[in-house]
Amino acid sequence: MDKIIIEARVNELATRRGNPHVPFVPSEIISDGIACANEGASILHYHGRKPDGEPENAAEFYLETNAGLRAGCDILIHPTLGYVANETDAMGRFAAVEQMMKSAETAPDFAPMDCGSVNVDWWNPDTNSFDTTELIYKNSTGTLMHFAERIAHYGLKPYLVSWNVSFTRLIEQFLKMGVLKDPAYICFCLTDQIIFAGHPGTPAGLDAHTAFLPQDFDIVWTAVNYKGDLFLLTEKIIRAGGHISIGLGDFAYMDGSRHLTNAEVIAKVVEQARSLGREPATVEETRQILEMPEVRIGT
Ligand code: ZN
Repeated sequence: MDKIIIEARVNELATRRGNPHVPFVPSEIISDGIACANEGASILHYHGRKPDGEPENAAEFYLETNAGLRAGCDILIHPTLGYVANETDAMGRFAAVEQMMKSAETAPDFAPMDCGSVNVDWWNPDTNSFDTTELIYKNSTGTLMHFAERIAHYGLKPYLVSWNVSFTRLIEQFLKMGVLKDPAYICFCLTDQIIFAGHPGTPAGLDAHTAFLPQDFDIVWTAVNYKGDLFLLTEKIIRAGGHISIGLGDFAYMDGSRHLTNAEVIAKVVEQARSLGREPATVEETRQILEMPEVRIGT
């Protein structure tokens, strides 16, 4: 079967209460990225975080982190646009990427497009109530078309996130319109236990995503389980020909009572994939599978 693309999702907005190995500042993300690359990850996804863990949207954070990663390894870089922590207009949300594109040393390889809008409030099982009640992850059609235009302009690969079937339908519509081109790289987002915006992190939740894969286009898909244990599904994903996006950003992975590092999580995926006949894709193989264009530096 085809090689498997493994993406390390090292931090998201995860705290260190669940796992102390979640990286926050650039030096921590860089060393985690290099360690994950050494274990077989070909893509790194990260969020800017302040030393206390709060979200950091300043372009300088991303410039420093990307430059450090470029100097240390060849892993493909997929930074966030800030998720709900960066609620400005379309140009404001893309501003950090525009800065990154001014130099080959700081340019990423992917930019994300979450192709729809959802309520992303946090459920607290201890209090049996929501900790937040007004968190909406807004991605208007116009904003997404702006992202698609800028992503194509720079020769980046759009990282298309689908939280539910309506997102996949918009991706298909964009493909029909020519706003997006295939092969499209779609990340099926499962959200478990404390956030309900995606499909459940179960076999049925994943099947409901893949049942609506756009039929007339070349689609490569990966899956995440945001706030759930993706290892419950990795064998199914590997056997189905999907790819895997995983890390401490999503879930506080443990081995018994021991907290795993991001690199150890990646090593565990690689071991399972190999046992099922799929080798991890190198960076170059990942570029070929996704037909990634040449990045254009400039403005
Ligand atoms: Zn993210």
